[in-house]
Amino acid sequence: MPDLSRSRHALVLRGFLAALAFGVPVAAAAPAVAASIPIPEPDQEEYLIARAPVLVPKPTWQLPVDDYHITGTFGASSSLWSSTHTGLDFATDEGTPIHAVTDGVVVSVEYDGSYGNKTVIRMDDGTEVWYCHQSETTVTSGQSVDSGDEIGAVGSTGNVTGPHLHLEFRTADEPQDPDAVLREHGLDP
Ligand SMILES: [Zn+2]
Repeated sequence: MPDLSRSRHALVLRGFLAALAFGVPVAAAAPAVAASIPIPEPDQEEYLIARAPVLVPKPTWQLPVDDYHITGTFGASSSLWSSTHTGLDFATDEGTPIHAVTDGVVVSVEYDGSYGNKTVIRMDDGTEVWYCHQSETTVTSGQSVDSGDEIGAVGSTGNVTGPHLHLEFRTADEPQDPDAVLREHGLDP
């Protein structure tokens, strides 16, 4: 066996390991390699943005009910609505469990006129998800919910002709097309 302890490679490796062991930045131990690799300070904004997708896993999304058919789309007009339709209607049996489409915090649970029993869940980006016409609600204001959590049941409260979930997304109080939002997250309502 050749004695590697005096070889250049062994010395470089030993210096590198020693640097790691003593917490010396690798850049100081191996400037030739590190010179081209910027090592940002942890408090730099660019560093946080670059790291965010790794540190914060994106919430998953899922459809709010099973076995439904769409009976009202965003922007549609009907004598039933005072203005154009602001959500997406999932018609299904009364009492069908409703699942949160994504993570968020419950900001209100209340009876709201034509919307009937309405639960509002705010996503991290501030967008509100409205679940309307419920027969019952099973979450309370301030509660955190994960995608898929049961939050209530389909009903006929408010201005309806039959049991359905009216799902609505609001960003800065502006209704968004739920079909487009769901498709952005890989769903096919
Ligand atoms: Zn509706």
